[in-house]
Amino acid sequence: MRILLLGGTTEARRLAGLVAGEHTVITSLAGRTTDPLRPAGELRIGGFGGVDGLAGYLRDADVDVVVDATHPFAATMSGHAVLACAAVGVPLLVVRRPGWTAGPGDEWHRVASLDAAAALLPRLGRRVFLTTGRQGIAAFAGLDECWFLARSVEPPTGVTPRNLEVLLDRGPFTVDGERELLIRHRVGVLVTKDSGGSAAKLVAARELGVPVLMVDRPPAPDAPLVSTADAAVTWLRALGR
Ligand code: NAP
Repeated sequence: MRILLLGGTTEARRLAGLVAGEHTVITSLAGRTTDPLRPAGELRIGGFGGVDGLAGYLRDADVDVVVDATHPFAATMSGHAVLACAAVGVPLLVVRRPGWTAGPGDEWHRVASLDAAAALLPRLGRRVFLTTGRQGIAAFAGLDECWFLARSVEPPTGVTPRNLEVLLDRGPFTVDGERELLIRHRVGVLVTKDSGGSAAKLVAARELGVPVLMVDRPPAPDAPLVSTADAAVTWLRALGR
């Protein structure tokens, strides 16, 4: 089969490695990262030009199946995939790692959006560890009363908070490292999207009694959904039979 794999996540890279020997896999990246980790198989970079552009690509590249393994917050791309696949009659599978759930000792405040997080933030703390990615930093630009340590893979673009220190890092992160970071910067509140995956920063926050401002995921796309790369392999095998 010819598989278009919408990527940008660990799960997408893992899936490409699992199926590239068996199928033709074309991983697609948005192009946000200047030096992306390269997956197995073929790689294309850049937007498709909306739903129509993606539908045209699926026809031209003779794609048999699309796997949307984008980040849970890449809602525009996921929505386009649903519409383009329906238009062209190509099956679609979504791979989404599970979100996080609070446990004993956690003080989490769930909000629906980055803007809602910015509105609530000053009441929770003034020294902020911001881990929403560089595209999420602008929402906090008006909060002059807070100090931010913002961690992202690439430097932020656009408006940023006045009191900002940027930490460029891609991870993976350890609980020891995250604990040390929170202590060294005297962090009073952690802001994160409910991305799922490694929970090192959440464990460190729990240990230190640091509250967490958690931005909820957008709704999952309307398509078959699995939570791991291995489950995606099983789904693809059944489709190929
Ligand atoms: P988005 O808002 O859902 O997408 C905006 C536009 O970017 C899409 O309409 C599409 O352009 C293009 N695009 C997005 N993902 C693409 C892909 N895999 N291949 C080709 N074009 C893509 O996406 P986003 O939130 O900016 O995320 C961009 C990429 O970064 C995604 O691949 C995602 O997996 C990864 N990522 C996102 C986050 C996050 O928090 N949002 C975190 C980590 C990684 P056209 O309309 O022109 O096709």
